[in-house]
Amino acid sequence: MNDADIFPQLQIPETLAAGPGPGNTDARVLASFANAGLADHMQADVLRGMVECKHMLRKIWGTANTYTYGVGGTGFSGLDCLFNAILPGDEVVAFVNGTFSGIDALTVRMKAASREDLKANSLDPKPANVTVVNVPHGQSVGAEVIEKALAEKKPKWAMMAHWETGSGRVNDLRAFSDACERHGVLGLVDAVSSLGIADFNIDDFPGVVGWASCPQKGVLCLPLTYAPVSFTDRYIAEVRENGCHSYVHHPILEARHWGIVDGQDVAVGTYHRTHSGYAVAAFHEALRINLQHGRAQKARDYAHHERALREAVAALGCDVTSNMTSLVVLNLPPALAGREKELVQACRAKGFGIWPTLSEPVQVRIGILNQLSEAAITDIVARFADEMNAMGAGADKAGAIEGLQRYYQNMMAAE
Ligand SMILES: *Cc1c(COP(=O)(O)O)cnc(C)c1O
Repeated sequence: MNDADIFPQLQIPETLAAGPGPGNTDARVLASFANAGLADHMQADVLRGMVECKHMLRKIWGTANTYTYGVGGTGFSGLDCLFNAILPGDEVVAFVNGTFSGIDALTVRMKAASREDLKANSLDPKPANVTVVNVPHGQSVGAEVIEKALAEKKPKWAMMAHWETGSGRVNDLRAFSDACERHGVLGLVDAVSSLGIADFNIDDFPGVVGWASCPQKGVLCLPLTYAPVSFTDRYIAEVRENGCHSYVHHPILEARHWGIVDGQDVAVGTYHRTHSGYAVAAFHEALRINLQHGRAQKARDYAHHERALREAVAALGCDVTSNMTSLVVLNLPPALAGREKELVQACRAKGFGIWPTLSEPVQVRIGILNQLSEAAITDIVARFADEMNAMGAGADKAGAIEGLQRYYQNMMAAE
């Protein structure tokens, strides 16, 4: 290859990642990644690190499930592993209220499809054995909708997102778990956005037999590492009995490298695939940071700063429709309606990484992953107000910033 044909070294700038994810990765996590030595996937400290990660994950997720570990890859890698227990012909009810649960439902339809279903529409199969219950964007999946669908269909499996990041809505996990128990349904939950933010024990939701999350949101470990999953013995028995169509994302086989063999914890894992010592070190440090922060404290901190952001964008004339604590989803004031994507693009061009919604209706999403300070929230509000005003919104930036200062002062006084 000619020198002139070689691209210059790739430089990626530091941006303010203020979207639904990925979140700003802690410097300690990046240092762990970069400082790990070269060691193969069966070296003693790499294996020990994986076993320690498994134990930390059980703590963070509040579970005694032996089958709790990380699936190499992104959130959808963990979800693929989770949904692998669904076989062609299985009856499933999937609740959809936004982009991500919509993609989950597509995964479920692909897994549950027959050969004929796939042939009829290979990229978007519609097997009759999968019922998709659509809840309008901006609303949560609630008790009534869940009870009605499960009572009527009595499926083998049901699927729901805990926090739907597409619309910023928290769905009713208690109602989902209870309804699954009541109707003898095996519940599967996409907890990609809630793990590491919400304060909950998965063992308090016995109707849910399988959970999947991701590395880059609440866990804050973007250096592409591990998507946490957790399965009850009931789920594992199902997979053991019926099998699944995957080696790499096999819920039982993938667990072996984490020291989970034949339903038991063993001292050292056995080979499943070539794990990266760098990734293990980064994931390990991210989990340590989560435990040091403390799950309840972290949840309170997110709620506290999300409220500050929510009140500030309301003061700028925006209408917030979300109820997650890591993300604000909003409608712009009437003067800017229809210009959401233009506004988001203008922000992104300046390294201020906010997002539009990815499915209709178009709204703006501003996230606060790892931005838990008055200074960080003030910076986000100031940049957002500047772009709104550059587009002629005439929003009261000074008033919004003053409101933020008052909010933080009052909160401190109250403590
Ligand atoms: C982000 C997200 C996903 C996808 O995660 P990736 O890391 O992009 O694969 C799936 N479900 C929910 C609820 C999410 O928020």
